Amino acid sequence: MDFVGIMTIAGQTLGIIKDLRDVERDFDAASYKSQMTELYNNVSELRMALTDAREELHAKGREIEELKSRIASMQSGEQCAICEEGRLKVTASVAHPHFGMLGHQLRTVTCTNCGHKEERHYRPE
Ligand SMILES: [Zn+2]
Repeated sequence: MDFVGIMTIAGQTLGIIKDLRDVERDFDAASYKSQMTELYNNVSELRMALTDAREELHAKGREIEELKSRIASMQSGEQCAICEEGRLKVTASVAHPHFGMLGHQLRTVTCTNCGHKEERHYRPE
């Protein structure tokens, strides 16, 4: 159920409560009972609708987190100097030919957009 549906039931429920107040004034057991049944059904329906809405919100929250992390990973890394659109991602890493014994690496970075490749001398902290 969508929010319009929830608001409709909530409005109907408030109407029933108002009617019940009127029934109370000039007490009529049959219409009181019927109004109580309707009230109970509406509140049950509202509860189910709110449970559905909560689950839907959780699912949307998870989806937003997933998209945020995807955007962050797309924005991470250096911008490509050739196409200026893609990001340079490390696609290979080998021990540096001269400084490998010090833990240095020779890394190949590849543009996610145009495929341009560059080599980088990586020095550990
Ligand atoms: Zn590029």
